[in-house]
Amino acid sequence: MEQVVIIRYAEIHLKGKNRGYFERVFTVNLERALRGIRHELHRTSGRYLVANFAPSETEEIMERVSRVFGVHSLSLGFETENDLDSIFYAAKLVSPKEGSFKVETHRGNKQYPLNSMEISSAIGGRLLSENKALKVDVHEPEHRVYVDIREQGKALVFGSFEKGAHGMPVGTAGKGLLMISGGIDSPVAGYMMAKRGLSVEMLHFHSYPYTNEAAKEKVVSLAKILSRYTLTEKVRTVSVTHIQEEIHKKCAAELNVTLLRRFMYRIAERIARREGDGCLITGESLGQVASQTLEGITSSNSVVSLPVFRPLIGFDKEDIIEISKQIGTYETSVLPFEDCCTVFLPDFPAIKPKLSFIEEEEAKLDVEALVEEALSTLERISL
Ligand code: ATP
Ligand code: MG
Repeated sequence: MEQVVIIRYAEIHLKGKNRGYFERVFTVNLERALRGIRHELHRTSGRYLVANFAPSETEEIMERVSRVFGVHSLSLGFETENDLDSIFYAAKLVSPKEGSFKVETHRGNKQYPLNSMEISSAIGGRLLSENKALKVDVHEPEHRVYVDIREQGKALVFGSFEKGAHGMPVGTAGKGLLMISGGIDSPVAGYMMAKRGLSVEMLHFHSYPYTNEAAKEKVVSLAKILSRYTLTEKVRTVSVTHIQEEIHKKCAAELNVTLLRRFMYRIAERIARREGDGCLITGESLGQVASQTLEGITSSNSVVSLPVFRPLIGFDKEDIIEISKQIGTYETSVLPFEDCCTVFLPDFPAIKPKLSFIEEEEAKLDVEALVEEALSTLERISL
């Protein structure tokens, strides 16, 4: 008998002919999530088992696996031989100390000599006779003991199901470049796209020395938390300091943010194309701030041709905050810091800037030279 983490996968089932591919990616992702922990990963029909790990790592394994997209549910339990004595021994370990319970059996192996009802009642009966504080309730039990008769002479025995991250395995839907700031929204946007199977690369713009090291470190911390889901390995940074100075010096103040956004989009697109990322991802939400009006988004969008995914476009701030709390980025996101956009923030940013006015002001700058110069500041930070 061996303690195992049982992993059941989700939407992968729906993918018919692509199933093999999805399973391969899913396997790689599970291994990446478990990197650094001694374990074995086995695939049995329709399930994965994590085995041969140290008991002290159990909780960490459960947590890491629960964050892998594609995992529908997971259980901590035992893999045993499938004779009734062995099953009973494992059932005792996962059964409650007291209260009402029920044994539920599933037979993956239909050749097994007893049917599901017979197995449940045999195991239930023996649990009852050993522990007088238990009682059976088949309708509304407080606890359940699950027995899963597998092929190859094995059974799985466990006491509960925990919810997995659901979604699709990261990497099965292509690759995108997340523009990640130190705020609340962009990490949530990255989470949501990774959940749909996109591999998420990350790019951050800073304005050093106007913004300090701490601001960069904050983004790296956020990226690390997010990468527990996205499995991203590095974050790229680019300096937009000179761009901001030039805009500040030469262009109408109310367009500072609008113009900077266009530069960010252009730089992000260049990097994305170079790295084979098929889309950009931002945390924009309609109407949230001046630069996220329809006009603001139109202005940024018009300088790139890659698709831009904005999974939060229709979300209320409250709902975004709820997700950020759930994925663990919220507390880091709300730490105080200087965002590069706040450095040269005008008193009254243009809310509905006209594209003709934007282009007129932008013509005062050497856009191509500034983009190239910014690209030369590219750095990679390992997560
Ligand atoms: P967030 O909470 O993600 O910072 P926000 O509400 O502060 O969002 P904006 O500052 O208008 O919104 O930024 C909109 C989007 O532009 C962000 O969600 C992010 O995708 C991108 N962005 C903004 N600032 C940066 C930055 N410094 N580096 C990379 N991307 C950025
Ligand atoms: Mg921001």
